[in-house]
Amino acid sequence: MQTTKTPFWKTKKFEQMSKDEWESLCDGCGLCCLHKLEDADSGEVSYTNVACRLLDTQTCRCKKYSGRKKLVPDCIILTPEDVSKFHWMPETCAYRLIAEDKPLYSWHPLLTGSALSVHEAGISIIGNLISERDAGDLQDHLINLKTCSLK
Ligand code: SF4
Ligand code: SF4
Repeated sequence: MQTTKTPFWKTKKFEQMSKDEWESLCDGCGLCCLHKLEDADSGEVSYTNVACRLLDTQTCRCKKYSGRKKLVPDCIILTPEDVSKFHWMPETCAYRLIAEDKPLYSWHPLLTGSALSVHEAGISIIGNLISERDAGDLQDHLINLKTCSLK
């Protein structure tokens, strides 16, 4: 008889996950590496398609992941302790979904076994990026991404 193992993200709290498990929750969409604008009154966050200079526009991955904080001081590194506060993450982000007790989407690489499935499902920003070096005014690059609020 075959038995199926309950996946780690359904059985472990964030702080119980190994580093590899924690990292594997990231689907590689690249959305959190986009510049965002925050409405000073409402706290609403709007996304642009302007990429952090370290985001590889071909792969949607950070080019200097291990040294990212040194090179981009305002890069926010998610940790198990504070992820539940990051309501500005996209609705599709596994960290946010799990923090909100929601299931992962069927295209998540952990479910498909393919790192490309996030791109194939049209969730990632791959192919629609503009480098911050070329972008100019962020207001000219707002995108319609259903997000959230900092408040
Ligand atoms: S939004 Fe979430 S899933 Fe997407 S790149 Fe950022 S951390 Fe990873
Ligand atoms: S430094 Fe890397 S991880 Fe941080 S926002 Fe830029 S591309 Fe993303």
